[in-house]
Amino acid sequence: MIRSAKIPVGISACLLGLEVRHDKGHKHSRYCTGVLSRYFEFRSLCPEMGSGLSAPRKAMHLTEQDGMLRLITTDGLRDHTELMQDFIDRAMPSLAPLRGYILMAKSPSCGMERIRVYNDDGHVQHREASGLFAAALQRHYPLMPLEEEGRLNDDTLRENFIERVFLY
Ligand code: SF4
Repeated sequence: MIRSAKIPVGISACLLGLEVRHDKGHKHSRYCTGVLSRYFEFRSLCPEMGSGLSAPRKAMHLTEQDGMLRLITTDGLRDHTELMQDFIDRAMPSLAPLRGYILMAKSPSCGMERIRVYNDDGHVQHREASGLFAAALQRHYPLMPLEEEGRLNDDTLRENFIERVFLY
């Protein structure tokens, strides 16, 4: 029997061209939709929209308070950490069938690494965080291959990610 099912892989929704970013734009990745989609069945999620926020919405960044990362609007007026945590708690169990995840870089929600953390004065404290959704993904599924879309431009990193997806 010939099986033709593609491999289920999660992806940040803005990378598929969906207008879900805070400015109602997207970050369409032609490589993902044009090439990887031949092999991967993408399941897209926008954690910020899933949290009940709309597009457009105020831009957000991470701050650290009492050792905890918080997702707040850049004007400091709104804290969306609980909304995001509720979404994470609801969404995480349903992601078990995925065999990999492609994340949008630099996002306080989806960024895999080197995400900026600001202090109350709006200055960068450090760049060592992951976005809240990406961090939860790593915690819940430590073996799931994750990669940022921008890093797929590097031949070695791309091959490595695809190989890990097939193995996983
Ligand atoms: S980076 Fe993540 S949270 Fe931000 S728009 Fe894209 S999918 Fe949504």
